[in-house]
Amino acid sequence: MAQSLTEIAKDLTLTLVEAGRLSAEDMPDTLQKTHAILTALKAQEAAGTPMPVSDAPPVNWRKSITKYAVACLACGQTFKQLSRRHLQVHGLDGRSYRAKYGIPRTQPLAAKEATARRRQTAAEVKPWEKALAYVQTQERDGNTAPKPEAETQTDTAETTAKGRTEEKLRRVV
Ligand SMILES: [Zn+2]
Repeated sequence: MAQSLTEIAKDLTLTLVEAGRLSAEDMPDTLQKTHAILTALKAQEAAGTPMPVSDAPPVNWRKSITKYAVACLACGQTFKQLSRRHLQVHGLDGRSYRAKYGIPRTQPLAAKEATARRRQTAAEVKPWEKALAYVQTQERDGNTAPKPEAETQTDTAETTAKGRTEEKLRRVV
């Protein structure tokens, strides 16, 4: 059976003390540090990758968002879009969910395909052009729309006929 990390750390520290490299009062501190280093090394060995300095969340949120689905990191359920309603089940909202799993605030909680489609739709509709068209329509109507009283006073056959028809309608009603 292999020695525990504590035993190894103790042995190493004692070796230093015996060699005269370490005073007895520095021993507890050194023992702790040695143990911490050994723990990190062991974890690194087990993972086969360098140890991250911070204790980063064990889940990789990037893997939770694929082309066709987004997986809830709290329960593993998959969706097209992670709804506010579902997050409420875990007592979270979009903001706290992102914070909990280290997801950037700009990252949509939706399948990549859904996000791409929404971007495309937005590009096709071009809201700014819509707004511009609206402004232009308002301006045009404001300039050319005839005033109600002017309409009945015009001499053109069309508007007079229209005026008569409206008159008839008013009487019928
Ligand atoms: Zn969930």
